[in-house]
Amino acid sequence: MDVTSVDEVLMCADPGEWRPGDSWLAGGTVIFSYGTDITRGAPSRLLDITGAGWEHIRWVPEPVEGSDGRMTLEIAATCRIADLRALADEDAPGGIPRAELPGLDLIPPACDSFVASWKIWHMSTVGGNVATALPAGPMISLLTAWDATALILRPDGTSRRMRVADLIAGPTRARLGDGELIRSFRVPVRSLRDRPAFRRISLTERGRSAALVIGRRTSERSARLTVTASTFRPVVLDFSADAGTDTGVGAGVGAGSAVRADAGAWRTAIDAASGRWYDDIHGDPAWRRRMTHRLGDEILAELLPGIATGVDDAIGRITGDLRIERSAS
Ligand SMILES: Cc1cc2nc3c(=O)[nH]c(=O)nc-3n(C[C@H](O)[C@H](O)[C@H](O)COP(=O)(O)OP(=O)(O)OC[C@H]3O[C@@H](n4cnc5c(N)ncnc54)[C@H](O)[C@@H]3O)c2cc1C
Repeated sequence: MDVTSVDEVLMCADPGEWRPGDSWLAGGTVIFSYGTDITRGAPSRLLDITGAGWEHIRWVPEPVEGSDGRMTLEIAATCRIADLRALADEDAPGGIPRAELPGLDLIPPACDSFVASWKIWHMSTVGGNVATALPAGPMISLLTAWDATALILRPDGTSRRMRVADLIAGPTRARLGDGELIRSFRVPVRSLRDRPAFRRISLTERGRSAALVIGRRTSERSARLTVTASTFRPVVLDFSADAGTDTGVGAGVGAGSAVRADAGAWRTAIDAASGRWYDDIHGDPAWRRRMTHRLGDEILAELLPGIATGVDDAIGRITGDLRIERSAS
């Protein structure tokens, strides 16, 4: 679709060149399908970042906070969905045997969560998905579940880092100031070593995500759950079999203190953390809430069998249309 407000399109990935009325252009699958920039309003110039030459996927040997001190996975903002999908099929990504990185099993269902054909997969970018900040943004779900951080370049030549979970303020609202450009995402390899679980549900088969829950078993007795699509912004909750009877409400909401690994505690905690449930044509809030509860029960039962309590009727149950194909048992 024509973006009729646009006077000029430049190849440019330099935030120093940004001026009011500009929008970054990556794959263009949002900008050209809506005919405007839904995050900022009608642009007068588009700054096309796809010529920046950023390597799509890199394994960086420097230690960063949260990494296991050996390798960090770096995904460029301009990495296309198809390039990320290919990473899951590599035998030894970053020189690490694939079987040691079960977290990469999350990539195929996350990519499948786009209601999109291969044409979109070959155009749209990981950074564009995060910057658009739709509740059903599957790259937001994936990167948040991996505890990824974004590197953001600023017009004054400085840069900053922010957790992807914190970067999303609400629907179509990323915490990006004027001229700020997402350069890349860093994923600690430690997250990729954890056993994951994935559940998604939609009102229609292969429809837009209405609730999407990802779990990671962070130890033999604990798990981290990430909720997106049914909530206004990503919600991250930690669960432990060793937490007290406190449900963790308030303190536990994405703040690192654990909620008891119990179905009742999970429901109380996610209700408190979500505040209100997302409402659009892709799902009624009450239904999204019930589905989120159900998917979380299933994930706790799957990741902490015999340890999480109150989840007996969720054992072996698979709700939803997308699930993980496991690379290792
Ligand atoms: C058929 C179809 C189905 C889709 N299904 C889904 C879906 O299920 N879920 C979903 O979330 N989206 C969906 N989309 C929307 C879109 O494809 C994705 O969100 C995509 O990942 C956006 O990436 P892009 O590179 O095309 O972004 P663009 O259209 O190029 O840009 C989108 C926005 O992000 C900004 N931006 C881009 N890159 C950066 C950067 N590096 N730093 C700062 N800002 C940046 C742009 O300025 C703009 O505001 C769908 C689109 C189509 C056409």
